Amino acid sequence: MYVKSLTLKGFKSFASATHLRLEPGITCIVGPNGSGKSNVVDALAWVMGEQGAKSLRGGKMEDVIFAGTAGRAPLGRAEVALTIDNTDGALPIDYTEVTIARTMFRNGGSDYSINGTPCRLLDVQELLSDSGIGREMHVIVGQGQLDTVLRATPEERRGFIEEAAGVLKHRKRKERALRKLETMESNLTRVQDLTGEIR
Ligand code: ATP
Repeated sequence: MYVKSLTLKGFKSFASATHLRLEPGITCIVGPNGSGKSNVVDALAWVMGEQGAKSLRGGKMEDVIFAGTAGRAPLGRAEVALTIDNTDGALPIDYTEVTIARTMFRNGGSDYSINGTPCRLLDVQELLSDSGIGREMHVIVGQGQLDTVLRATPEERRGFIEEAAGVLKHRKRKERALRKLETMESNLTRVQDLTGEIR
């Protein structure tokens, strides 16, 4: 599985449709300060369902829509499409190529689609969650975040690794199961007390 392409239109500084084709392996994006390198990374997070304006370095969600420049009027919507090569079947869907798209209008709300079929944010999140990518999976490490990781306590660092490895989901399930077990045990004690009283 690898990111095959990313198309941005009306997203932050990318007013015109911009298509980035990527190859397997390492891709470097170079350019002068303020040329939009981080905006590409923001687009990646956004199309995968990012909901926090701050994580996208904005004040409010609609800040992702091209706000206009001296020579170009603002746009009314932002669109990003991410195409993932799925020939190894890492994503649980019967397609060798998967395109996730997100569109947002100024009046709010986002539309999502998977391979052209409209879907919910939850469908996008579920599609990505088992593959270790998607929201809160630490696959996107922003500027300054490395400091946070380097300064983290051993417990916090373990949390990052568990989240990236997909262990966190199982840890949470285990915690839920243990809580249920505890309730069951106290119920059992109560039943035993009552049975004792009846005898
Ligand atoms: P650096 O190397 O300094 O980190 P960068 O290449 O990562 O820079 P970005 O932060 O991606 O640059 O892009 C910043 C540019 O994007 C700024 O010029 C800013 O005005 C522009 N920009 C951000 N949001 C919008 C928007 N909604 N509409 C138009 N332009 C925007």
